[in-house]
Amino acid sequence: MEQVYQAMNLLEAHSLKGLLVSHQIDCVLKGETLSAAVGELPPDVQGVTLWVEPEKVIQARTLLQEYEAQSHTHWICQACGEENAGSFELCWQCQHSRE
Ligand SMILES: [Zn+2]
Repeated sequence: MEQVYQAMNLLEAHSLKGLLVSHQIDCVLKGETLSAAVGELPPDVQGVTLWVEPEKVIQARTLLQEYEAQSHTHWICQACGEENAGSFELCWQCQHSRE
């Protein structure tokens, strides 16, 4: 397996894993159990890395680059002040709509 991405937090790691799996790319998260072990600390304290099979690395990186380009357009929820990735139409925290 090769590392293709370091996620900011578990939420991002899981959404990226879903993205890759939806393109038939097997993906393993590492660092996840470490996050669970620290219990009460925010999940973004620990980095979570995504790993794929070597023959899938190029395809995975392409998808992740597209994701990153999208996520550069972060927006701030007007209801709760949470920062959301540009690919989200609803606030991930309170489900308030983007507009
Ligand atoms: Zn919100």
